[in-house]
Amino acid sequence: MYSNFQHFLQTELDNIKAAGTFKEERIIVAPQQAEIKLADGSKVLNFCMNNYLGLSNSEELKNAAKEAMDTHGFGMSSVRFICGTQDLHKELEKKIAHFFGTEDTILYAAAFDANGGVFEPLMGPEDAIISDSLNHASIIDGVRLCKAQRYRYKNADMVDLEKQLKLSQAQRFRLIVTDGVFSMDGNVAPMDKILELANKYDAMIMVDESHSAGVVGTTGRGVTELFDMKSKVEIITGTLGKAFGGAIGGFTTGKKEIIAMLRQRSRPYLFSNSIPPMVAAAGIRMFDMVDKTNTLQDKLHANTDYFMNKMKSVGFDIKPTKSAICAVMLYDAKLAQDFAANLLKEGIYVIGFSFPVVPNGQARIRVQLSAAHETKHLDKCIAAFTKVGKEMDVIK
Ligand SMILES: *Cc1c(COP(=O)(O)O)cnc(C)c1O
Repeated sequence: MYSNFQHFLQTELDNIKAAGTFKEERIIVAPQQAEIKLADGSKVLNFCMNNYLGLSNSEELKNAAKEAMDTHGFGMSSVRFICGTQDLHKELEKKIAHFFGTEDTILYAAAFDANGGVFEPLMGPEDAIISDSLNHASIIDGVRLCKAQRYRYKNADMVDLEKQLKLSQAQRFRLIVTDGVFSMDGNVAPMDKILELANKYDAMIMVDESHSAGVVGTTGRGVTELFDMKSKVEIITGTLGKAFGGAIGGFTTGKKEIIAMLRQRSRPYLFSNSIPPMVAAAGIRMFDMVDKTNTLQDKLHANTDYFMNKMKSVGFDIKPTKSAICAVMLYDAKLAQDFAANLLKEGIYVIGFSFPVVPNGQARIRVQLSAAHETKHLDKCIAAFTKVGKEMDVIK
């Protein structure tokens, strides 16, 4: 029985390789941080991690995790509503709500689960979900699991969003869904205009702050801070796996009735394990840290400005952004792959992205800045880009 299927899979895998889109894992033999050691012993500077606040190897978070391991054990062996809720889980939910200025929060094992479990309990066939075309895969999957009518608008295109809102007026409830920051261009969703349209066409708003929380806005509260619209969106989803320590975990935070309904009906919450106590405890410590001081957020913003300005001044074509994602546009797929390979030889680890991850002819290298980077790291990265850019005739 298996031999036919095996042959089929092998052919498909060979096709992926032939198309040049086969994903390999690069093995890191050190903690996640600015300077990492690879399995071959080489040391490189890491510019492709989502470790925006530099907390993935934080002593303070590691200590909080170790302490919680002693006081609260290793694992929960339960979903939340049976025997998987400790004081730590409730406290973390409160901290997240406090951070975003929302009413209540529900934790998940990942943001993928938060998005997977948010639509189906809330929206039915009488309702409409109006989703940005570049939203994260987990939003797309979550919408698929839900019976609501689906509308899609072109990325951050407010003319198209208005058109879809008009088309959806017959439905009972409307929910506009967008990423706060889109991961490929690093562009920020135009939340002010989305809010205007939501008010005009009687729609609610959900924003996924996975790439924007901790990053965007003066104190890192995300796009609702940047656009000064706290408590004006009904639903925020986010991850603990990026800026907020990088371990694991996701959340939905927002209006209390919405969160209450998710606790009753959201399948990834009802049927999947609680996050481990050490992750909850480190999360609590993390929110205390970013509440008390703005040092990390300030450093990230300073690093981002420094890097973007220098890269523009040496002649690179950079997508404008308020996030910590810097898309260095090269347009050609092979050029982007070779450019990234040459940068690795210079000790800079970045990823080249091309079709189908980004539109055809829009190949680029994505650089992700972090509060973990020091100026010397940024300078080394810019020098390597400049050297390779000149060698490959990208800049003069
Ligand atoms: C990373 C990401 C997720 C998934 O987060 P996990 O917690 O790793 O599952 C969801 N949405 C967006 C927009 C993301 O960038």
